[in-house]
This record gives sequence, structure tokens and C-alpha cells, in this order.
Amino acid sequence: QAKENGKNGICFYTPDINDRLVRYQEVSAMLRRAIVTDRLQLYFQPQIDLKTGGIGSCEALLRCFDESNRMIFPAMFIPVAEKSGLINRLGDWVIETACRQLKAWQGTDLEKTRIDINVSGRQLNNQHLAEHILQTLERYELTPDQLGLELTENVVFGDYEGQIGQLERLKSVGVHISIDDFGTGYSSLVYLRRLPVCSLKIDRSFLHHAMENEGDMAIMQAMISVGHRLGLSVVVEGVETHEQDNLVRESGFDLAQGYLYARPMPADQMPAFLAGIESDH
Ligand code: C2E
Ligand code: MG
Ligand code: MG
Ligand code: MG
Repeated sequence: QAKENGKNGICFYTPDINDRLVRYQEVSAMLRRAIVTDRLQLYFQPQIDLKTGGIGSCEALLRCFDESNRMIFPAMFIPVAEKSGLINRLGDWVIETACRQLKAWQGTDLEKTRIDINVSGRQLNNQHLAEHILQTLERYELTPDQLGLELTENVVFGDYEGQIGQLERLKSVGVHISIDDFGTGYSSLVYLRRLPVCSLKIDRSFLHHAMENEGDMAIMQAMISVGHRLGLSVVVEGVETHEQDNLVRESGFDLAQGYLYARPMPADQMPAFLAGIESDH
């Protein structure tokens, strides 16, 4: 781009860069307003326990609403939040809101349903994160095993020792730790041995290609067996069709998540979903 525009191949300004800058500033301003005006919401997507058919846990997925009440998806704002540092405030909001939801489910049919929140690398770099999570759980009178964290592979490679220490502390008291989008990172399998994790969530691209591609099928099956050999539960994401559902059951996954079972939904739709799967039994 710069080569085409600038005489000497040097160019400090292109409309494209400017567009992106404006977009970045718009999204971060929108996010700041969303935080103070309460335009954030957690949606919940069940993860189905393939042995029992019940809800194993549910993933909290963040939604943001702009001034015209249009829903903004994380792909649009999480990268901006990570870059601008707003992710720490968003992350704190997610921790607080997930705990408040868990508290609200106490005494209902959903009281045993764990909530798994997504955590960015930048949050884990904050050395007070573990302490903050445990204090929030305590403030809501919840037990640590009611909460889970999902971390992507790449997350766990900043301040390696510090991050591992925090994860160890959380896991040792019962917080569930998962590696999200497993198989898409650049890391080696060796680190799995060292990481304090409870489950692997295999990235949906493997499932989506496994139907036509023997290589992807082989890798998916290898990841399942490595996970099981290490004593981890193995989750598949992105199940959209009945064929995929058959495949994941045959392959030995423990839990499955995807549009076939449920789309992410506001908390108030969760009781009806649970009642629906229970009446199917
Ligand atoms: P993820 O953690 O891998 O979440 C799964 C994404 O796949 C979600 O997209 C979910 O809506 C979508 N999904 C679920 N089932 C299916 C399916 O059957 N087919 C397809 N094609 N997609 C499915 P969503 O909600 O747009 O979130 C995207 C990503 O944003 C998440 O990926 C996660 O990395 C990030 N994210 C979401 N909420 C938070 C948050 O509170 N904090 C942080 N740091 N990241 C978040
Ligand atoms: Mg996730
Ligand atoms: Mg995922
Ligand atoms: Mg994924």
C-alpha cells in the first residue's frame, strides 16, 4: 500500500490507515460509554454433557449495544479493548456479572450450572486477577467450582511463570480452567503437561473440516486422546449439524457446544432451555 502511494515508497498517511484509526477510536469511545451506561450484557451458551444429555456448564459471551441498540459482537470490540487496555474494565464487569448471575441461579434448577468466562491474556498479566476473582466469588457467597475460565493458547505465553502461578492458585481451590480454541495456537503439546488446566476445547475448525478431510479428523482424534491421557475433559465447539453431533459422540468428546443444541441466549431464557432438554429424557 505504502509503495503504491508514496513516491519513495514511504508514506505516512493513507486513507486506509486513517479509516482504521477512526474506527478504532469510535469503537473504544463506544465501549467506554457502554461501560458507564450499562450497555453490556452476558449471553449464555450451554455446553452439553454428552453422557448425561444435561448442561455441563455454560459459556458467558459478552455482548455490547450501541446507542441505537444494535448488538455488537466481540470480534468487533474485544481486539480494540485489548489494545486500549479497556479489557481490564470489561473483564472486571464480566467477572462481577457472571458471579451475580450465579447468585441469582441459587435455589433454582440452574444452581449447579457452572459459568465459564473468557479471559484475555492482558487480564491474566494483571497479577491481582486471581485474588480479585476469589474475592468476588466470596463476596457473592459462591464456591470456586461454580466458575470456570477459558483461555486461548496464545494467552498463556506472556509472563509465563506469573500466569501459571495465578492459574495454579485458582485451579487448586476448584476454579475450572479450560484452554479455548485448542489446536490453533503455535504452542507445543509439551506445555499441556505444565499448565494447570482441567479441559481442552478443540477449535471448531477441526470439527468443520473433519467431515471431508482425513488429516483434520486424525488431528482431532489425536487431541482427544492426548487430552484423555492427561486426565482432562475434552470439549468440542461449533456443532451445527446432526452429522457433526454423531461424529463428536463417536469420537469420544465429553462435552459439546454449538448452534445445534443452543445459540447463546440471555440469562432469562436459560430456565426454559433446561426444562426443554429435561423433558426430552
Ligand atoms: P470463543 O470463546 O471461542 O466463543 C465461541 C464463539 O463461537 C462465540 O462467538 C459463539 O457465539 C460462537 N459459536 C457458538 N456455537 C457456534 C456454532 O455452532 N457455530 C459457529 N459458527 N459459531 C458458534 P462470539 O460470542 O461472537 O464470541 C467470539 C469470541 O470473542 C469468543 O470466542 C471469545 O474469544 C471472545 N469473547 C467473547 N466474550 C468474551 C469476554 O467476555 N471476554 C473476552 N476476553 N473475550 C470474549
Ligand atoms: Mg470461549
Ligand atoms: Mg472457543
Ligand atoms: Mg473457537
